Amino acid sequence: MINVDRHCVEPPKVGKSHRNKKVLNALAHVFLGKCYLCEEKQPCVGIFEIDHFKPTSKNPKLDTEWNNLYLCCKSCNSFKHKDAKEILDPCCDNVEKLIIYKYGYNPEKDSYIPVFLSTDLNNEKINNTVKLLENLHNREQGMSNYRAKSLRETIHKRWSLLMEACRNLDNAERDGDDLALQETLRDIKNYVSRNSPFTMLMRYTAKQCRVDKKIPDLFD
Ligand SMILES: [Zn+2]
Repeated sequence: MINVDRHCVEPPKVGKSHRNKKVLNALAHVFLGKCYLCEEKQPCVGIFEIDHFKPTSKNPKLDTEWNNLYLCCKSCNSFKHKDAKEILDPCCDNVEKLIIYKYGYNPEKDSYIPVFLSTDLNNEKINNTVKLLENLHNREQGMSNYRAKSLRETIHKRWSLLMEACRNLDNAERDGDDLALQETLRDIKNYVSRNSPFTMLMRYTAKQCRVDKKIPDLFD
């Protein structure tokens, strides 16, 4: 989950149905083409669903209220609605500071997994968000665990590419190869950009490799 600015687009006319091309395109712009929960990118915007951030059951007007529409992948959307607790809002809360993201090898599970931690255990909204993210990525029960596994595999592929780029950076520095250095810097900046998938987990990895110490303007 990353911070986004809903005011970067002119609010589209939602009309009678919230699912229309103008709304989807505007949401793709706001949420940088990613599911606002898992940060996965989809091949085209039409595949995304639209999540009603606040449930529409008590207030039907929220169904077509632009500020209540969030770009979401199918899996995250259905999972969020199973346990509708109040969560952090990436359009107003500083989600990048309030949640701690980690990624690494877990000996108990014998695999690499993302980890989400709350910065304030007394804050229910942060705790609910952390629990939701944990479930979306690491759940092991029910049919939906296949989706969690596939999401983890996609994250791991991206992580492997970033780790390779970090090694290439070290090699280019060691060899004094300026051209390779520039190419690698460009690759790393792309992997950790907020326009790319899984920004927060990739940024954690880049910090682990201390790349942020070598490149002052690494994070956009
Ligand atoms: Zn998702």
